[in-house]
Amino acid sequence: MTEQRTRARIDSATKDRSALDGMRRSFRTILDRQRENAHRIPDIDSRKDRLRKIKESSVGNDELFCQALATLHDNGFRVIVAKTAEDAIRAVSRELEGQDFVVKSKSNVTKELHLAERLAEGGIDVVETDLGDRIIQLAGCEAAHPTGPACHLTRGQIAGLFSEHFGKRVSDGPKELTSLMRDEIAGFLSKARVGITGTNAITACEGAVVVVHNEGNAAMCAMRPDKHIVVTTPDKVVPSLEDAMNVVKLQTYLSTGKIVSSYINVITGPSYTADIEKQLHRGMHGPKEVVIVFVDDGRLSADDKEAQYCIGCGMCLLHCPVYNVLGPEFGPAGHKGGQGVYLAGSRGKLDESLDAGLYLCTSCGSCAEVCPASIDTKKGLSSIKNEFRMLKKDISPERAAIVASVRNYDNPWQAPKRAKAKWSEGLGLRPKGELVFFAGCSTSLVMPENAARTVGLLRACGTDPAYLGPSEKCCGSTVRKLGEENLARQKAEECLSDFQRAGARTVVTSCPGCASALNHYTDLVEKYGVKIQHISQFLDEHLPPSALAPFDGLGRVVYHDPCDLGRALGVYDPPRRLLETATGARVTEMERTRELSACCGSGSGVKSAYPSLAAEIGRDRLALAKAAGADTLVTACPWCVQNLRDCQEGSSAVRVMDLVEVLHSALKPVHSETEGRRSTRR
Ligand code: SF4
Ligand code: SF4
Repeated sequence: MTEQRTRARIDSATKDRSALDGMRRSFRTILDRQRENAHRIPDIDSRKDRLRKIKESSVGNDELFCQALATLHDNGFRVIVAKTAEDAIRAVSRELEGQDFVVKSKSNVTKELHLAERLAEGGIDVVETDLGDRIIQLAGCEAAHPTGPACHLTRGQIAGLFSEHFGKRVSDGPKELTSLMRDEIAGFLSKARVGITGTNAITACEGAVVVVHNEGNAAMCAMRPDKHIVVTTPDKVVPSLEDAMNVVKLQTYLSTGKIVSSYINVITGPSYTADIEKQLHRGMHGPKEVVIVFVDDGRLSADDKEAQYCIGCGMCLLHCPVYNVLGPEFGPAGHKGGQGVYLAGSRGKLDESLDAGLYLCTSCGSCAEVCPASIDTKKGLSSIKNEFRMLKKDISPERAAIVASVRNYDNPWQAPKRAKAKWSEGLGLRPKGELVFFAGCSTSLVMPENAARTVGLLRACGTDPAYLGPSEKCCGSTVRKLGEENLARQKAEECLSDFQRAGARTVVTSCPGCASALNHYTDLVEKYGVKIQHISQFLDEHLPPSALAPFDGLGRVVYHDPCDLGRALGVYDPPRRLLETATGARVTEMERTRELSACCGSGSGVKSAYPSLAAEIGRDRLALAKAAGADTLVTACPWCVQNLRDCQEGSSAVRVMDLVEVLHSALKPVHSETEGRRSTRR
């Protein structure tokens, strides 16, 4: 059922990509604004480091949480810790007794709780007072960004919603749209007896609630009614106000591009006065009561708390290839994208995590690169998948087939073991030696000609590479990304022990996935004493430039960094250097390269299970290549090559080549003949 829903979501998103054009435009605006204002926050890296350290020491720190509960209580807050979501909903409902409506400002945890819907079932209308939240409330859809919830809707769509809501024709002019809704919300704010807000941080030392906003609505929800209910989570607790200001500054800059928001409210308890005979009277101009509901719901007991380091800046969404295709369909309510899926799973909600897109992530890792708290969502999702599989939960037929194929045939392609070594026939490769070429399943079966070319390049370095032949195992990369941790480790160890038996000191792979997987278990790498390198690293060190005769004919060349080579292994310059030597020209950099490289879309079984999603992600990548004026895109991974070639459409296609193919074409004839076959230059 979940799988069907996932496929239906992909179908609808990929059939009409234009439906999310508004979201992608908004994301671009945020990034442009960040670039414009970057000089105004020159200490951003140290701020991020500080955030990570604070989150590491605060989230899951019982002592700090207890300190926060005590200081909040001393300041006059009424504090409730709700163990479950239902407890939280009951607690808020109790606080709203006698009310038929409540005003509310932006809060992700209330979305997670489906609080508005649940209160409506009990006869209490929740009026969202943030314009974006009000729009999505009327549209009945999910927020696309933590601070720009309606950024995926066009002004025309919003005008349609307002026309229906107000029962009259409303133009799509932003002025009319905002003033109409402002007047309606103002009416509710003036009558409300209770207001609900979220928080951006809670400070343990001062016992303060920090709320950031631009519209002014959150202050009104907090200040104007008689009672203010704060719905939040324990992970929002930081030691001090200074730490909270760091959260606020990063969150504002990263979510909007501005360096400061219009309002930062620091609330340290109910309103009071002591102006008459120094006697304390609660509730002067602000609320008499402030109630904080901490929603635990698996957070305090979670073994892995890294997903809770999130400050809701949305940077991961801007850079996620899956989110750029699926939008808010990727992620559970309230916490969008991969981090939301990770958060649900780490709180023990495995089915929710699956439903929200556990297997949609390509494990590209770009979210971790841009996350101010360095949340490693890719790693977190792998652990959730592993937990999911340990509980023997079903996976899709495509993923099950990959796992069975690795177990039975030592490759994810369901090909007989012997088929893998076919490319090596006639090349005279010996089975043992100090340098072993690990061809890997994908190169051997999908791009066998590249395996032979790699041998030619290794020989051009003056080496005599060995090859394990039909006994070469699978490195386990794909199954690890599918959550089969035990099988992945077993496969990596089998490979490493085979290398040792073959007398290898260095092993060269042509696939970054293999290089990354074989390097992943550092204890095993140490145990078997083998150095694993990707072919681009080896050739950068050993291929004499004199072996190559630079050739043109590729036009303008861009280089696509494969995720497993760049972000996973930090290899960025060697392929570029080789490419420039082979073509005698500078590589053109397209948007999103190196650490921020956009994914090709094929990783983690996404291409097998959801080919249309993989194709759209690939097209997004190629669009960036075209925008850079590329005639040829070169990459260094058989998976990227395959997906980027498969997704090409129309006559204006960018030519996609593997680095090995390019280098081999540039080999002087004396070298290209050494592999036993003469290559023809393209
Ligand atoms: S690893 Fe890549 S695909 Fe997965 S959530 Fe992060 S950015 Fe998205
Ligand atoms: S996971 Fe990181 S990048 Fe994404 S919203 Fe949270 S803090 Fe921001």
